Amino acid sequence: MALLSIVLPAYNEEQNIANTSKVLAELLEENGIEYELVFISDGSRDGTFGQIQKAAEENPRIRGAEFSRNFGKEAGIFAGLEMAAGDAVLVMDCDLQHPPQVIPEMWKKWQDGAEVVEGIKSGRGKESVGHKLSAGLFYRIMSMLIKMDMRASSDFKLLDRKVVDVLLGLPERNTFFRALSFWTGFRTETVHYEVQERQFGESKWSFWSLMKYAISNATSFSTLPLQLVTVMGAISILFSLVLAVQTLVKFLVGDAVEGFTTVILLILIIGGFLMLSLGIIGHYIARIYEEVKGRPKYIISRVTENVQGEVLGSWRKV
Ligand code: UDP
Ligand code: MG
Repeated sequence: MALLSIVLPAYNEEQNIANTSKVLAELLEENGIEYELVFISDGSRDGTFGQIQKAAEENPRIRGAEFSRNFGKEAGIFAGLEMAAGDAVLVMDCDLQHPPQVIPEMWKKWQDGAEVVEGIKSGRGKESVGHKLSAGLFYRIMSMLIKMDMRASSDFKLLDRKVVDVLLGLPERNTFFRALSFWTGFRTETVHYEVQERQFGESKWSFWSLMKYAISNATSFSTLPLQLVTVMGAISILFSLVLAVQTLVKFLVGDAVEGFTTVILLILIIGGFLMLSLGIIGHYIARIYEEVKGRPKYIISRVTENVQGEVLGSWRKV
């Protein structure tokens, strides 16, 4: 029988683990789906890993690992994919904002031949105004840069083993799971869902962490900002051509430019463009630098007792 692995990245989610495990286990058993739950505690500072361990003792289908520090949700997802043994792997948040009720539908689509089943948000649920605004800005920037509509997409996805293996084989360190599964281009089906309210605790994303995430995703997934540098250069050249003609004409007429204002404006505009361009290029160089160093995406410090030793060995290679 086919096995479904569910990967659940968790950062300071001690209140959610027990409840989420229970809800998922009941739902999957009811629907007769063979499953395992893989919790990745992303360097949590609360009792998350203890909770995972407790859940694993109660239910042998639950396994988990703890990172040595907070490596971010992306790293958590990839560690989970690495650890998952299933023929299909589902990634979802462990705060139950991704409604478990649609899992049977996703599973059905996978059984019918879909290789990627994307969860598409039909609403964002109840969130604070500040969070809505920053998340809105985040998705706008991402969609523009990646040339995909990111607003409705999420990390709630079911992937076939083939797709998981492709993702795990990618050499890059800076990954963007949401767009990468799209990029792999396998047969994709979608499932619509309504974002639920968070069960316990609060959102782990601040305005700045979202912005940082947006910039890092944009630079790891798109070279559009680099082309922006060219556009700015073209604008400057056009501008300077106009001014050059004006200056020359005035000079020839014997009426030299008085233009102190022009000089100041030019210095400001060109200076601004140059520094912005350097900043953009700097971001890409930083990415290249990080990739070249080839450090692992994450470091695992502990695993639950029911995890096999050899699996741990293969993680260390990451
Ligand atoms: N998360 C994580 N590492 C982080 C931040 C978040 O593993 O550094 C997990 C978190 O525990 C949750 C999921 O990612 O399971 C989504 O996070 P959250 O609910 O805070 O985001 P939101 O739903 O508000 O977008
Ligand atoms: Mg959430």
